Amino acid sequence: MSYVGPDFEPPRPPRHPLRGPLTVAVAALVPGALVGWLVWQTVGDSGGDAQASPSSSSWGRPATPGASDDGKERPGNSGGTGASEKPGGSPSASAPAASGSLKGKVVVIDPGHNPGNFQHTSEINQQVNIGTNSKECDTTGTATNDGYTEAKFTLDVARRMRTVLEKEGATVKFTQDGDRPWGPCVDERAEIGNKAGADAVVSIHADGAGAGNRGFHVILPGSVHSGAADTRPIVASSRELGERVAGSFLRVTGSAPSNYIGGGTGLDVRKDLGGLNLSTVPKVFIECGNMRDSKDAAQLTSSAWRQKAAQGISEGIVSFLHG
Ligand code: ZN
Repeated sequence: MSYVGPDFEPPRPPRHPLRGPLTVAVAALVPGALVGWLVWQTVGDSGGDAQASPSSSSWGRPATPGASDDGKERPGNSGGTGASEKPGGSPSASAPAASGSLKGKVVVIDPGHNPGNFQHTSEINQQVNIGTNSKECDTTGTATNDGYTEAKFTLDVARRMRTVLEKEGATVKFTQDGDRPWGPCVDERAEIGNKAGADAVVSIHADGAGAGNRGFHVILPGSVHSGAADTRPIVASSRELGERVAGSFLRVTGSAPSNYIGGGTGLDVRKDLGGLNLSTVPKVFIECGNMRDSKDAAQLTSSAWRQKAAQGISEGIVSFLHG
């Protein structure tokens, strides 16, 4: 991921605001994920991580606090799970959301960082206003121990997503496509989604936590109202988007929700990310895995796995847009 500065949020009671038909849709999604989880728990741990109770996992629950940031090691709070869907699941065969047209829908994909950021440190270190405070324009992102950069990863997954979503009829726009020397800054990344009138925006990342920290998590905007930032109108819809993305990502990739953030839910809420704070349209980030963990890195560097990741995220978006 990208943005420096931990955000410790106070614990909150469950406050999931699902309504009407959305309740039905998510009710269908969550048990499916839990079934996969239970199967996984039965067949055994593939990751060696401490296990959480299955009941602690639901995409209908708020994330636990304690998010620190991208590229920084987090304390291994081991509250998570190595949950994974049953091995060998067929992503394409089980795709639920590939029907129907997304004609008229606009999806903005935000490939985190930029491969050129490493050569433009002064530019990306400039401060930009994210509503709540000022922050670096952008960051370099992380890399695997073998040097595969997060910026390359995010662009690859984003391009694979574009192929999937355009086949569904969506209009897909990127915040950057490796076609500029650095950036854009986080405020511009948000603005691109806003100006596009996007129906959904997903920012693609991979994390840089310590070895042993594994799994994916989706970052949802917290409720922020400060300066130019007002996320209140998009908090609920972004959570809905994030839950869909998390559920599809788990199902298609078979990857586990993070074992170091989100308490096994695969969801986290943050108020310190300019790309979320400044968004006026539904938006989430996904940290697809931890580049600094060798097992996660083996997945992140696999083109076959990245295709699954792209498919999983895209199916979550399609499901959200079909409402
Ligand atoms: Zn990142």
